[in-house]
Formats: sequence, structure tokens, C-alpha cells
Amino acid sequence: IGEPDWRRAADLVEGAGTLALACHVSPDGDALGSMLGLGLALARSGKKVVASFGDRMFEVPRLLRFLPGQDLLVEPAAYPAEPELMITFDASTMERLGLLAPHAGKAGELLVIDHHVSNTRFGTVHLVDPSAASTTMVAEELIHRLGLPVDRSVATCLYTGLVTDTGSFRHSVTTPAAHAMAGRLLETGLRPEELARELWDRSPYAYLPVLGAALGRATLEPDAAGGHGLVWTYVTRADRAAQGLPYDEVEGVIDVVRRVDEAEVAVVLKEDDAGGWNVSTRSKGVVDVARACAALGGGGHARAAGFSSALAVADTMAALRPLLTPPPSHLPPPHPHRTEP
Ligand code: 5GP
Ligand code: MN
Ligand code: MN
Repeated sequence: IGEPDWRRAADLVEGAGTLALACHVSPDGDALGSMLGLGLALARSGKKVVASFGDRMFEVPRLLRFLPGQDLLVEPAAYPAEPELMITFDASTMERLGLLAPHAGKAGELLVIDHHVSNTRFGTVHLVDPSAASTTMVAEELIHRLGLPVDRSVATCLYTGLVTDTGSFRHSVTTPAAHAMAGRLLETGLRPEELARELWDRSPYAYLPVLGAALGRATLEPDAAGGHGLVWTYVTRADRAAQGLPYDEVEGVIDVVRRVDEAEVAVVLKEDDAGGWNVSTRSKGVVDVARACAALGGGGHARAAGFSSALAVADTMAALRPLLTPPPSHLPPPHPHRTEP
């Protein structure tokens, strides 16, 4: 049980007249990349395709606006109410579809394409591969099984999900299969350096003072995370308002904070424009942050997970801190980081 059902998935896609695609809310590179990559490949084969995500504020994050295939996107309000075939991308639960969850509930068939180990198998057919580094890896295989060509535009979408979810081939999910897929995609002529610059190596000037403020208040707690160390900080909407910086520009703060040697776990709390908080967590090899975030209503992967919180920063940290425990097999280090040799 739980094996990907390639044959049924391919039959459904080939038999459907209209395909309604949806990825998780606040879409990242893997969510949009897998949805638009498969969407483009299908649209070019003559299928009618609509794609969307269920955010109240429907807007593609600025960093991902270079992705091809955005003409497939429709607002949630224009999404088919009862799609004959709906396909979900990178969403581990029905709730992750936000405003589009009711549509999924009414779909004739619901094909779930994902790579989260925590996927709840909420569809009628599932292509869920927890060993895949990204959902775009699963999407690529489906494209091949459908016999559809991968041109440079499709490859750009698929590669974006691959590099974002592997952290540019740095994270533990970086398998030979992930590199092999990158090789295939580069054959289409896509330029990895241009993509990397779009994704990671550019920010408005206003980002620097906001990043500075966040880093300036970073806190190291050597005793937390079972003695393996925790580093955390936060970015308020006032920080951003002072510089006129939009919310989606602060995604990368966690990538700076997580580099701290003395901490196994890194946490960044980000206040959105409505005053709610989105919490990013990362770990290095001991603490399962997906478990901790799931306990607070979120989820994700063992080394990268998140959740939303309506609480104040200190209260969110008070709820999260005791959940950041290593499994029993990982006893605290004999010499805590704070004791110098
Ligand atoms: P990030 O910190 O980059 O926003 O999210 C890291 C990972 O955590 C994502 O790839 C996603 O799998 C997961 N994640 C983040 N926020 C949430 C959330 O609110 N709910 C769930 N279920 N997963 C989340
Ligand atoms: Mn995702
Ligand atoms: Mn993913």
C-alpha cells in the first residue's frame, strides 16, 4: 500500500477534458514549479488547464514571477466549483489547499502529487513519494510516463522546485536521482546561474536594514533542543514597514540564521501584513522539526518545517521550545557548546 499509482494517474489525466491544478497556500518554488511545469506540459499537448492556489491574497511571490506558465493561473474565485479531475501539488493535507480545499472535496477525481512523508492520502489516486527530493521530481516522472516533451520552459519550472527544496543540492534529500534529474533538465538549455540569481541572489536595498534588525536580535540558547542548541529571531511588520519591504522578501532570513554552528535548530518568526505570524524552523540532523511543527498545527519535513501562530513571539517560542527535543537515541552532547575547551 502507498505505492505511487502511475497507471491510474496517467489514465485519469489522459481521460480528462479539463484539468484543475492546485498547489499549497503561500506557494514556494516546489509548489508553483511542479504545478506550472506539469500544467505547461499538459496545456501544450492540447489539454484545457487551469491552475491556482487558495490564498485570500492571491499573488505570486515576487521571487517566483519569472516562472513560465503563469497564464494558466486563475484566482480562486474563478476556479471550477466541481472539477472533474483536480490535481494537487506539494500539499500534505487537504487543509494546505486553503480556499481551494472545498473544491478538492467536490472533485470527481482527486490526484495527489506530493513528497511529504506526512501526506494524509486525501485524494482518490496518489503519487506520493517521500524519497523524492521535491514534488517536481514526481511531476517529471508523470510527464515522462505521459510521453510529453520537456522543453526549456517546463524544465525551468521543474528545476526551480528541485533547487529550492534541496537548498541548491545541499540538503540531505540530495540524492543521485536529484542530480540525474538536474542533468536532464539542463540538457534543455536552461541557465542555472540565471535561475539562481532570480531565486537567491537579489533583494531590494530595503532588505539589508530589515535583515540587519532581525540578525541584531538573534538569540542563542545553548541548553535548548536537548542541549544541542537553538538560535532564533523574528521580523515584525513594523521592521518591514519602516523600509517599505513586502512580506515575501524575508523568506531568506532563515538561511542566514541557520548557519550558526552552536545551534542544531534555527527558528525565524515572520509577521505578515495582517499581524499573523509564520514560523520557519530548520534542523541539522538530530531534531525532527516536522514533528514539533505538526504539534502546533503546521508540518513539513524533518529538517525544514513551519507553522502559523496567532500568539505573541514570546508565547509562540514558549510553546515551541519544549517540542524541540532530540529522539531518545541522541543523548545531549557530553560537553555543552557553552563550555569552552
Ligand atoms: P518555510 O519555512 O520555507 O516556509 O517552510 C519549510 C517547509 O515547512 C515547507 O516546505 C513546508 O513543507 C512546511 N511548512 C511551512 N509552513 C507550514 C504550515 O503552515 N503548515 C504545514 N503543514 N507545513 C508547513
Ligand atoms: Mn512546499
Ligand atoms: Mn516540496
